[in-house]
Amino acid sequence: MSTDFRTEVREWLAENCPPGARGPGFVPWGSQKIPLSDDLALWLERMAAKGYTVPTWPKEYGGAGLSRDEYMILQEEMRRIDARPALTGRGVNYIGPTILEFGTEQQKARWLPRMARGEGGWCMGYSEPAAGSDLANLQMKCVDEGDHWRLNGMKTWTSDGIYGDWIFCLVRTNPDVPKHEGISLVLVSMDQPGVTVRPIQLISGASPFAETFFDDAVADKDDLIGPVNGGWAVGKRLLQYERSVHGGVNTSGAQVEQKAESIADIAKKYVGEQQGRIADASFRARLTQLEMNSHAYRLTQRRVIAETESNAPSFATSILKVKGAAFTKERAEVMQHAMGSQGFGWEGPGFSREELAANTEWLTTRAVSIYGGAQEIQRNIIAKRVLGLPD
Ligand SMILES: Cc1cc2nc3c(=O)[nH]c(=O)nc-3n(C[C@H](O)[C@H](O)[C@H](O)COP(=O)(O)OP(=O)(O)OC[C@H]3O[C@@H](n4cnc5c(N)ncnc54)[C@H](O)[C@@H]3O)c2cc1C
Repeated sequence: MSTDFRTEVREWLAENCPPGARGPGFVPWGSQKIPLSDDLALWLERMAAKGYTVPTWPKEYGGAGLSRDEYMILQEEMRRIDARPALTGRGVNYIGPTILEFGTEQQKARWLPRMARGEGGWCMGYSEPAAGSDLANLQMKCVDEGDHWRLNGMKTWTSDGIYGDWIFCLVRTNPDVPKHEGISLVLVSMDQPGVTVRPIQLISGASPFAETFFDDAVADKDDLIGPVNGGWAVGKRLLQYERSVHGGVNTSGAQVEQKAESIADIAKKYVGEQQGRIADASFRARLTQLEMNSHAYRLTQRRVIAETESNAPSFATSILKVKGAAFTKERAEVMQHAMGSQGFGWEGPGFSREELAANTEWLTTRAVSIYGGAQEIQRNIIAKRVLGLPD
């Protein structure tokens, strides 16, 4: 079965993946505010028609109904020809799987097929100024107005806020009960007069990041996911889906894996080469350690995927989130180490594009141990939920 499937997939990819969808580069995440090149638009359309944007989702919701083994084969074959994923983002990876798990039949039918086709980019409305690690402290109000929900308050650190079409928000539907018990998860259109997005400058120079304000914004009555006031459990589950993406073990959505450039090749250019090897022994040792960690991490990801009984993530995703973040940071550091002072350029003619990108990458990776829940919080989860240690 697998051999046939591999052959079928290989042939289909060879015929259908356009040249402009191969190699490193932008992967669409559904935003209607970001135009796609012809090749990327065609790739998305073809992959969606095949169900391959969300390969393990059931066919009736836009997936291909693949088993995990088949999903892994699809991934391998895409990597083999350097095909980019056709779609990524918080729609197919965070809120989609959450609706698949907690949504009503009507919500699944309404939302999942359009997510799978990439019709709308999703933002995440969890954090507030006084609710980050202590997320249950969130204050944004959501009031039942009979035929709709009315929303007032603000969210912060909204990644991609300026390009978002939709946002899923954790909101307070009952202020008079213990804080974890009065929370719900609701889907909100960002294209309405009651929603204002104000960009925040990131350390890396880009600013798709934003504060999002809700002033009498509205949400459809049918768009509250899970029970009213039962959103804490639903919202935590969504975080596990998020962390499984960051940990590289997501099988209920669209795993993004692009080939990283070889640090060894870059290092030879900067550090120098002796008889085909990087000249500096201490750098060689650091790079070897990184490559070994990378290999071990990949094997662990594969083992976790193989051992997980369903496509739903477990608390163990926190382990991969912690290790993955540390590894991503280390990789960026090693790259800068290789480039020396050239790796610290911000702008100007003295630096190549590759060097400027390495610095931006290093700055960007500072955030990986914060978003999706800070490292300390992941360690708390591992201590309590994985190791069973007392509070
Ligand atoms: C690049 C980036 C993108 C993000 N995108 C989004 C997004 O799209 N949507 C969204 O809702 N949020 C987003 N966030 C917010 C992110 O989820 C929060 O920054 C994160 O949860 C930490 O919350 P905080 O910033 O309020 O820090 P705080 O909660 O104030 O934490 C500050 C420090 O104290 C530590 N700390 C706090 N409590 C404890 C504890 N109990 N035990 C031990 N240590 C503790 C933390 O680990 C951290 O080191 C993003 C953040 C970043 C950096």
